[in-house]
Order: sequence, then structure tokens, then C-alpha cells
Amino acid sequence: MFDRKRLHALLERERRNYEARLPRSRAAYDGAGSLLGRVPMTWMNKAAGRFPAYLDEARGARVRDIDGFEYVDFCLGDTGAMAGHSPEPVMRAVRNRLGFTAMLPSEDAQLVGAELTRRFKVGLWSFSLTATDANRWALRLARQITRRPKILVFNYCYHGTVDETVVTLGPDGTLPRPGNVGPPVDPAETTRVVEFNDLEALERELSHGDVACVLMEPALTNIGIVLPAPGFLPAVRELTRRHGTLLINDETHTFSAGPGGCTRAWDLDPDIVTIGKAIAGGVPIGAYGVTQEVADRILAEEGADLVDVGGVGGTLAGNALSIAAARATLEEVLTDDAFAYMTTLASRFTDGVAKAIEGLPWSITQLGARTEYRFGTPANGGESAALSDDDLDDYFHLFMHNRGVLMTPFHNMALMCPSTTTEDVDLHTELFTAAVRELTG
Ligand code: PMP
Repeated sequence: MFDRKRLHALLERERRNYEARLPRSRAAYDGAGSLLGRVPMTWMNKAAGRFPAYLDEARGARVRDIDGFEYVDFCLGDTGAMAGHSPEPVMRAVRNRLGFTAMLPSEDAQLVGAELTRRFKVGLWSFSLTATDANRWALRLARQITRRPKILVFNYCYHGTVDETVVTLGPDGTLPRPGNVGPPVDPAETTRVVEFNDLEALERELSHGDVACVLMEPALTNIGIVLPAPGFLPAVRELTRRHGTLLINDETHTFSAGPGGCTRAWDLDPDIVTIGKAIAGGVPIGAYGVTQEVADRILAEEGADLVDVGGVGGTLAGNALSIAAARATLEEVLTDDAFAYMTTLASRFTDGVAKAIEGLPWSITQLGARTEYRFGTPANGGESAALSDDDLDDYFHLFMHNRGVLMTPFHNMALMCPSTTTEDVDLHTELFTAAVRELTG
């Protein structure tokens, strides 16, 4: 299909280009001795070049680095900037919000809650600062009201740095995910794992009767995109109900499927929805919504400290700034119309890539405004993980980067925002086609 030696030579060429183009970013990196790993957060070392490009400013679908290069941004902060960078309504809401964090509720919150209910069906909402924390607190609430100790996730899921979810599926069940940093307990004690799309395994694991909740993305998005097989999601709902297990849809990424994520697009019926990243236009936020029935059970828990130090909550959670930004984002930026436009663009992007990879055993999978290519056609997380190819990822990322297009590190994912244009998509198609041709001869 292609020659590895050729790939390595092309990758080296792109690395040299990258280093030559970005002297200021390189100098910034070399001078960052006060930071652990030289970056504000250690994952920023996951750059396809030998150092990260540094952000100067970003607006709409454009990012400029400190060397003065401008990029069409299909990474969009891996969903945090799905509303586009610095959208005007959010800038206005932030400017007008006097008092960011005061330990007092703001009236915006109930409007945001009502809008999230309209979109995601579950009726009662609470806020955090990250999707990770929304998930952590949802798991606690689920364990509390079911009196069950374990959770269940799908192999190669990612739900943030939630201790219980940093796992993979081994031959005899749950294993810590390779590289899991200092786990507080062996995750086999807290978590059951099965492959996505494997109903038999799901039923077997739920039948132990100790699973408080299934935490899932309705489509996997963190190991490429793996769509549910026909009938899988209704069967998950039926099995969880039958076994007294709550169902949590993590819509943090699958929000791309539409204004109410997969939950609304596919008419799903979860007990809890969690979300974060995009809903405040790039300002930190997370949220979890529960059904009336779950809310009634939570509020009836007299022994559960939901007010002080019971393990659910955070001082800046629900702060007036995040909430004002969420209101502006949901009311004015990530509207129903915006999703329709973004999805049309993602389809165009998908068609362009599909044409470029015709004849190769690769695939591209779209989920609304988000689309991702993969070097194979996996049916579950384990299969998809086995297709990972860092050199190929780096080659495509650097080829694009050196020619003005930003893709998502950790993924071959492209996300559309309301200010992405047809020309942006066509630029990617043209470059991607050229990169494939160079590689395959
Ligand atoms: N849920 C999903 C599905 C995610 O993909 C992520 C992050 N990629 C998270 C939760 C956690 O988000 P954060 O890191 O912003 O807390």
C-alpha cells in the first residue's frame, strides 16, 4: 500500500520544514524552563513536530501562531472551540459580566438549564468546570442512589481523567490502561469493561448486579469514531433498565451530532447526560443533567452531603462567568441553524477524504459536525486501537500544519465551527489528496 521507508523520509522532510518555519515557537519552548515538561500542561508535548507551535491569537476558524503563520483550524481545541474562537456574543457576555465568581447564583443559570433540557431531554442540571468533573460527580451520584460499587465503560473510552475510567479490557477483564499514572486503587475494583457493540459481554457484566451505571459516549470518539451498530443503543438501554443500572450519555464530543448531541439526534433515553468543553464557547464549563426520577432519588438521600464536603461540587463550579458564556453560546452561536451548516461542511470534508483514499483500506467516519479518518475500518475500540500508527498521524498532521491547516493532535479529527467555510474544507481536501499521493506514489 505504501512503503514505510518512504513514510519516514517524508516525515523527516516535514519535521525539518516545521522546525525551520517556527523559530519563535522553538525559542519559546527552549525558554520554558519554569514549566513541568516545558509546557503549561504536559499533554501539549503531544505535537507532531519536536516542539509545539505557540498560540498568538485565534478568531473564528483561524489560528495565528507567534511566528506569524495563519492556519485554518479544524482542531478547534478538540471541541472546546466548536463555537469558533472568541465568538463575538461570548466576548460581549464576558465583557458585560461584572463579577465572575461570588458564591451566589446568577439568573442566567436557569436559562442555560432550560435550554440544555430542550436540547438533551433530561430535565435538571448542575454545573462543573470541566467534563471530567461532570463525569466524576455523575458517577458518585449514581453509586449513591443505586447502592452499587462499580461502573461499566467501553474499551478505549475516554471520559477525562476520571480514575474509574482509565482502563482497558484484558483477556480476563479490567486492566489499568497502559501508562495510568498513580491509580488510587486497582481499577478492576471499581470498573467493568466490555467492547463497544458487544451486547453479549454487556449483559454478562451487568448480570453481576453490582454496576451502578454505564458511562458511555453514544459513539466512541476518542479512538477514531466508532459508530454504534444498528440496534446497539436501544439494546444498551433495555439491558441497563432490566439490571437496575443507570445510563449516562457523555455528550462532550458527540455534541457534534446536533444541537442536542446524539441523545436528541437519535432519540436516546439516558438517565443522566454529561457535557463540557464547547457549551460556553471556550470558557471552562461542564454540566450534568438528570431525569426527574434520578433527581427525586438524589434529593431523598438524607445522608448524602450535597452542600459541603461530600465529594460533589467545586468552589468555582456554576460561577457567573462560565454561565454567562454558556448562555451566549447556546442562544446565539451553537444554534440549531449553525449545526445544520456545520454538518453540511463536515459532509463535504468527508466526501473529499473518501475520494482521496479510494482503493486504500482506510475509512472516514462522520458524526454531524465532526469527522475523522482511520487507517482501517474498526467495529469497536480494541480494533480501532490496534490500527493506531503514530508515524502516519504525524506525517499527515505535519504536512497539513506546514501548509496552513491545523488538525487535532491525538486524532485525525476535523471539526467544523459556524465560521468554517467551504474554501477551508476544499483547502484540506486538496492538501490531503496531495499528501496521500506523495505517500503512495
Ligand atoms: N468526555 C469526553 C467524551 C472527552 O472526550 C473528554 C476529553 N477529551 C472529556 C470527557 C474530558 O474533558 P475535559 O478534559 O475538558 O475535562
